Amino acid sequence: MSVRKSKKESDSHPHQDLLRMDRIPHIWCAGCGIGTVFGCVLSAIKKLDHSLDDIAVVSGIGCTGRMAGYVKLDSYHTTHGRAIPFATGLKLARPGSKVLVCSGDGDLLAIGGNHFIHAARRNIDITVLCVNNFIYGMTGGQLAPSTPFGAKTTTSPIGCPEEPFNFCHMAAASGAVYVARWTSLHLRRLTESLGEAMQKRGFSFVEVLSPCPTSFGRRNKMGKGLDIIQYYHSQSVIRNDIDPKEATLDFNGKLVVGKFVDIERPTFLDRYDRIGRREVEPWPAKDKMAPGKKA
Ligand code: SF4
Repeated sequence: MSVRKSKKESDSHPHQDLLRMDRIPHIWCAGCGIGTVFGCVLSAIKKLDHSLDDIAVVSGIGCTGRMAGYVKLDSYHTTHGRAIPFATGLKLARPGSKVLVCSGDGDLLAIGGNHFIHAARRNIDITVLCVNNFIYGMTGGQLAPSTPFGAKTTTSPIGCPEEPFNFCHMAAASGAVYVARWTSLHLRRLTESLGEAMQKRGFSFVEVLSPCPTSFGRRNKMGKGLDIIQYYHSQSVIRNDIDPKEATLDFNGKLVVGKFVDIERPTFLDRYDRIGRREVEPWPAKDKMAPGKKA
């Protein structure tokens, strides 16, 4: 038996309480994966045992960057590649807050790549969500550091001549304490991962493989958004706890997804407090100094 909903009920959205409805309709193309990822972000935020007044979302520029404009929380749509330094400043000013960066592969790991590795090295207590659609979507479909070898973009019309980064390996090697990758069809796992990442103390990173039918799929004859996401999902294999350098994205083989890193290490603020309390041994240790080199 079908249950007929009132007009008011059918017009409402399950996440309406966290959306700036005056900004809707959103700009994302039909078949884009960002909308479903955004839904997972909102679900994960609602499940957090944390005041919504103390959660901030920060984005850079690009299609994913629009999330910050649609979420009804403290949110900041910053300049291209600078979401992480902005989020770092927020976290240092309000250590009790949860700060979530939502941006795309080009923004976070090309233009903002330097910020990414140093925030992970310092173990800044923020969560970074990277929606990886293998291209610069909004700015014209240019080659990104995620573009697979041979894939066509506006700036590589014959095929990309470069090897892409493995972002999960890069995050882990730089010092991230939590690293996971899913596709935008792994809704439950992605939502769980985002929740775990936001609960984690330290730099946490979640990558999502997501279709961009307009800029990437069209040029590479991958079909519609649904075809692309079904392809990503069917090619994926879950391998939790493996070394992230083995979490490769082989488009002729398997796309490795899973939770790869979940460790503990002092955050930047933990270390900063120790320095402030003078709890650090003199450096370098006097008995380790070379003879004749007096301080
Ligand atoms: Fe999504 Fe690509 Fe359209 Fe951007 S250009 S909204 S990534 S489909």
